[in-house]
Amino acid sequence: MGFLVKVSIPTIVVAEDDRAIGELVAHHLTREGYFVRLVADGRTALQAARASADLVLLDVGLPGLDGFEVARTLRRERRSLPIIMLTARTEEIDRIIGFELGADDYVCKPFSPRELVARVRAVVRRSCGALEPISPTLHLDRLVLYRETREVRVDGDVISLRPREYRLFAELAENAGIPLSREHLIERVWGADYPGEDRTVDVHIRRLRMRLEGDCKLGRLIETVRGFGYKLVKR
Ligand code: CA
Repeated sequence: MGFLVKVSIPTIVVAEDDRAIGELVAHHLTREGYFVRLVADGRTALQAARASADLVLLDVGLPGLDGFEVARTLRRERRSLPIIMLTARTEEIDRIIGFELGADDYVCKPFSPRELVARVRAVVRRSCGALEPISPTLHLDRLVLYRETREVRVDGDVISLRPREYRLFAELAENAGIPLSREHLIERVWGADYPGEDRTVDVHIRRLRMRLEGDCKLGRLIETVRGFGYKLVKR
């Protein structure tokens, strides 16, 4: 516990009602190590930004409140929150309105994900200083394992795991696709001197399956290798 350093990971609210674009942006930002909350209308964007956000990516044409309206409200409430506007409209007037409302940057559609990520990085670096993203160790669709914070997140939400469960899952995840014996897992997770039995591993695996495959509905994640041990399904 003494070695556990709390690292904060920038949370980015992505407000985009075009599902394909939203998911594409979320995918690229998650890969960069950011936590992403994807929302599809202005009011939800406002709520998400108020709850927790280090940066907001705001589509101009949103249902409910439009992006300009959301930006104006946020600027009033949280002066220093970075905002990047996304828009299909390229007219200079929109750009000017965006900046007058206090947008930190402006990206026109269509944009390349690489360009967008670069702009996000630049704005985060400028405004948050220390809030650099950390590299997630592993992605399995909706699940991300963060080695530095010893967290497992599904859709951005932290899954509460006991320390041994986390270590067991991390060991499997870092060797995804490779069968690991119960002896190997015990040695790595409980230590070579552990006097317990192999069944201990099974009990912990069962709980991991309940949390991840059951509660989080991640599908088949951990496979039993008969007479040997377990492996994490490679995706
Ligand atoms: Ca839109």
